[in-house]
Amino acid sequence: MSQSGSYIRIDNVSRRYGSFKALDDVSLDIAKEEFIAILGPSGSGKSTLLRLIAGLDRPTEGRVHFEGKDVTELAPHKRGIGMVFQEFLLFPHRTVRENLAFPLRMRKEPKADVEERVEWVAGILSLSTMLDRYPSQLSGGQQQRVALGRGLVARPTLLLLDEPLANLDRELRQEMEIEIRRYQKQLGIPFIYVTHNQEEALSMSDRIAVINNGRLEALGERQAIYDYPETPFVARFVGKSSRFQGTVGPDGKVVRLARHNHEFALPTGSHLIAGDAVDIFVKNERFDIARKQDGGSGIPSTVVDVVLRGPFVEYVLETDRGDTVIAVKPKRNDAIPIQERVLLSWKPDDCHLFKAGT
Ligand code: ADP
Ligand code: MG
Repeated sequence: MSQSGSYIRIDNVSRRYGSFKALDDVSLDIAKEEFIAILGPSGSGKSTLLRLIAGLDRPTEGRVHFEGKDVTELAPHKRGIGMVFQEFLLFPHRTVRENLAFPLRMRKEPKADVEERVEWVAGILSLSTMLDRYPSQLSGGQQQRVALGRGLVARPTLLLLDEPLANLDRELRQEMEIEIRRYQKQLGIPFIYVTHNQEEALSMSDRIAVINNGRLEALGERQAIYDYPETPFVARFVGKSSRFQGTVGPDGKVVRLARHNHEFALPTGSHLIAGDAVDIFVKNERFDIARKQDGGSGIPSTVVDVVLRGPFVEYVLETDRGDTVIAVKPKRNDAIPIQERVLLSWKPDDCHLFKAGT
């Protein structure tokens, strides 16, 4: 992306604490109207990156630009950003209206403007009928919407969200994911959304930046991050998968599994060569399961449990070598029963292969 095309530019940013690098040379361009997720495990540096963008912290090295302007030294309140955190941080003894108005009152905005903005944000977030309630009179989802509203009420040019749904239960979280994405599209400002939850990142964002140990591990469209992970870390962290080890056969055309008596064709275009040790990742929904009695090839396994997940079935399989593998299949009437002997396999293009040790 060109400098002019990027709305937010993070340029070779590092943040050290003594000799420890919480962030290590991260560069990232974010476009206007983009929803980007910063995805990584706990302690990987996500919040550190968000704090640098917010101006709550300064990088040890590197620069941060907003719309071509260097804001690295600019105070947070001059950056035009809104923030939403995991803790809702609502004032319990103030109404929803007062909570929403708070950021504007801090800025001493005229009363008429405050009222107009509060009505505006309450409209977007479906809070208009709840403005005179107190936080304790709201559900968790409604409280989170108030927290979002407080981040948006000053009409920021950028919204930063740090694990805002982590305190909500799963069902509510899934509803809020859809809503937050809709608000972002409606407002047309970039949302930078930090999460350790890959499902959230996949359901909401346009692009995902994966960070690991303070380094940008991968960056791309969410579908590409899911379907074509560039590193073993991304393959393991995004989606649910199983890992196998193997070796490319002497002919350079097949991959043989190390622990199981099974081999499959090396996908065409692979850079792996004969003798390479490989790590193989297969997403749970990409497995094929055949009943052993029907013949064919695959890893001999036994169905040890069948978990119903609405339109999907999770087969919990134990291979004859004692590994547990989960295979997800659409629910059909001819479900494979528990204790059935099966062969587990996958199509060559349905796995991710990496040279071992990379
Ligand atoms: P995440 O948000 O991905 O869970 P953080 O960005 O909060 O991770 O932290 C990244 C790393 O930096 C962690 O190992 C954390 O302990 C360390 N860290 C964060 N803030 C400080 C600090 N003020 N002093 C020392 N180490 C810190
Ligand atoms: Mg964090």
